[in-house]
Amino acid sequence: MELRLYDTLTKEKRPFQPLDAKNVRMYVCGPTVYDFAHIGNARPVIVFDVLFRLLRHLYGEAHVKYVRNITDVDDKINDRAARDFPGLPLNEAIRKVTEQTGKQFHADVDALGALRPSVEPRATEHIGEMRGIIEKLVAGGFAYVAEDHVLFSPQAMNAANSTLPRYGALSKRSLDEMIAGARVDVAPYKRDATDFVLWKPSKPGEPSWPSPAGIKAEGRPGWHVECSAMAWKHLGKHFDIHGGGIDLVFPHHENEVAQTCCAFHQQRMANYWMHNGFLQVESEKMSKSLGNFVTIHELLADWPGEVLRLNMLKTHYRSPIDWTMKSLEESAKTLDDWYRVAADVEPGKPAASVVEPLLDDLNTSLAIAALHSLRNSDVSALAGSLRLLGFLSESVAQWEGRKQQASGVDAKEVERLISERTAARARKDFRESDRIRDLLAAMGVAIKDSKEGTTWEFSR
Ligand code: AMP
Ligand code: ZN
Repeated sequence: MELRLYDTLTKEKRPFQPLDAKNVRMYVCGPTVYDFAHIGNARPVIVFDVLFRLLRHLYGEAHVKYVRNITDVDDKINDRAARDFPGLPLNEAIRKVTEQTGKQFHADVDALGALRPSVEPRATEHIGEMRGIIEKLVAGGFAYVAEDHVLFSPQAMNAANSTLPRYGALSKRSLDEMIAGARVDVAPYKRDATDFVLWKPSKPGEPSWPSPAGIKAEGRPGWHVECSAMAWKHLGKHFDIHGGGIDLVFPHHENEVAQTCCAFHQQRMANYWMHNGFLQVESEKMSKSLGNFVTIHELLADWPGEVLRLNMLKTHYRSPIDWTMKSLEESAKTLDDWYRVAADVEPGKPAASVVEPLLDDLNTSLAIAALHSLRNSDVSALAGSLRLLGFLSESVAQWEGRKQQASGVDAKEVERLISERTAARARKDFRESDRIRDLLAAMGVAIKDSKEGTTWEFSR
């Protein structure tokens, strides 16, 4: 069976054909580093990690290049730096914020079992490429300078009689409707309401770089051009897959396509545009004001990262996901069981029953259903399949240790109590064995007796 992926642009699942099977290329928009990442941000990280692993499985590890950027120049970063480090010069404060947040992001996504991308470019290290794209756009008549800004004109793009795509094609919006619906209070330097910023002047003290297009004052890039520049630098002007959350389709990805295709006079930027659906918490939109805003960091204090990973993958990536405590508890139980039966088993080849649903536009929910069947039929294929999906990265002992860390219960103490209970049962002292069982229950530990002996797990 071949890999088929759903493309947001053509709204259909198509067989995946890489431009170069020896160099399969994927770009995913990464975080803006100013605050802890929330569990919604973990969704594209986990989803595209599964795709990265699947592509490596199909084409070979050396033949897949995955780029996920770090946006380290942004108004939100500047605001946070000024707030958190009022005593420091702004640029120093900004460096502190981006360094701390970047480190935290890495710690979080490592714990989720996500492989590091092949390259993690930082926006501030690609200003030259951004200027390069902007110069090309101005020279081609797609962008213009006004009051030290450089603006992109979607209308110039759609007026060009060429092989360019239409502005609005990716997000299925018509430019005429956008013009008609534009707000009245448009910035005075814009020729048209739909024009967007490629470059803007920096305020005093803010990060700034020499400007393109003959502008004397220093300035900084707009957000959209950052991704066009980093994708170009690391993947070339035309590559295979571009991903991100569904909220990025407009305006961010529409504008990336516009910039890249107009700068290089081409029809496509990426051959497949993939977008993950949104995550809600307990059936509500996650927001700070509702008090249901959860960071990955907070969740990791209570749950091993692989539990969060499994919980995310139970839903197909394009569907909305409802993140609930109940579902997390079930995911924890499932993984506990898988760790116990499969972690110490020599992993076999990933099972066809798991790989095939993944080939069908990353149907992880079906793949997980297949894992449940393998649990009772082929433990070595279960072990191999779990590893393909990024699970079982720890030994059983580490796993038990981590859970114990999360729950505050000492696994050694549990084991000691269980052997005392076994001894009590052997001498038919049922009073004592019941006492120990109740004690364990009070510690949040459930035990199960079978012919093979006694096993235990946390019953949260
Ligand atoms: P941001 O830092 O807001 O640009 O988000 C980083 C990534 O997380 C982008 O790919 C977003 O589309 C994605 N994202 C943000 N919020 C959610 C959410 N609630 N559910 C799923 N994905 C999200
Ligand atoms: Zn982007």
